[in-house]
Amino acid sequence: MGTSVRCIGHLDCDAFFASVELLRRPELRGKPVIVAHDGPRSVVTTATYEARKFGVGSAMPLATAKHRCPQAIIVPPDHDAYKEASNRVMDIVRDEVEIVEQISVDEAYADLSAMAMPKSAMRRLQRRILAETELHVSVGIGPNKLVAKLASDAEKPRGFCVLTRRDAWLRWADASPGLLGGVGPKTTDDLARRGIDTIRALSKVDEATLSSWYGPRTGPWLWRRCRFDDSAPVEPVREPVSESRESTFSIDLSERDEQEAELRRLAVKLYEALEHQGRRGRTVGLKVRLKDFTTITRSRTFPVPVEDEEALADAVVGMLREYDPPQPVRLLGVRMASLELVDGPGVQLALPLRH
Ligand SMILES: [Mg+2]
Repeated sequence: MGTSVRCIGHLDCDAFFASVELLRRPELRGKPVIVAHDGPRSVVTTATYEARKFGVGSAMPLATAKHRCPQAIIVPPDHDAYKEASNRVMDIVRDEVEIVEQISVDEAYADLSAMAMPKSAMRRLQRRILAETELHVSVGIGPNKLVAKLASDAEKPRGFCVLTRRDAWLRWADASPGLLGGVGPKTTDDLARRGIDTIRALSKVDEATLSSWYGPRTGPWLWRRCRFDDSAPVEPVREPVSESRESTFSIDLSERDEQEAELRRLAVKLYEALEHQGRRGRTVGLKVRLKDFTTITRSRTFPVPVEDEEALADAVVGMLREYDPPQPVRLLGVRMASLELVDGPGVQLALPLRH
């Protein structure tokens, strides 16, 4: 165990697939919607909260779901759309937090240990994701991944829940050990056969006994797990998914000409750096911090990668004009995301790409 105090966040989009569908089909809002292939053996991938009220849940056979909620509207999944929405959410998370581990299309852990005010940072992130993507995320904060993930689920949808290990204990001591992430149905059933059907009961079994039942790795792991103890680190994927350049000015820039010139300079710098790495991107982001420290970001994703520094500069300048900063500007930033290698994986990165 490390000596420093850890603070971990877990973000999870609410009814993700269904929410993405509702964004492009607003006429479905407020209705029970189920995202699933409509076949005889299909299962529900996601349901809106209106459908969940009828007892419809993820991974349920579609036939059961239809029986419980016959009026549900079935929408076939569109994974490209979900991936695209996922990228937009995760780009924002990575923009706000340095150490992020994305664990699924709509879930990520964030290591907040180095942050002075992790709760307000997560509130801000939650608001920013909503403002920029119209998607709601639930946030959980805890001393480790286990507690953070339980916390994000505890007050869904639109949840924001901060729990200590003790809070988690008070809340879930009487729940099934299967609640503890990583404790699967096989172990849960086996524990039940031994008369252990709650986290509290599991915590009364000593470590040596657990080891004799489940081995020298899983035994002690379970012993810690039921105490809501978890030392697993947040492990970010190494490859950076976005890159940015920004500058803060010693004197706020109030003239639009100066602001645009600075943005163009940053755009060229960023483009050259990416070109050098043999990467290019489809998403262009603008960051502006005003005199009063209000910070806004805007981003736009193009169907094809931005082709040169001029195009990148034009795109961010266009966003700046649209935003029309209402105050002098103390910081400007340019970001590129949705990065890809110019010639796909395996390309030699140092190739000169332009003459
Ligand atoms: Mg989710």
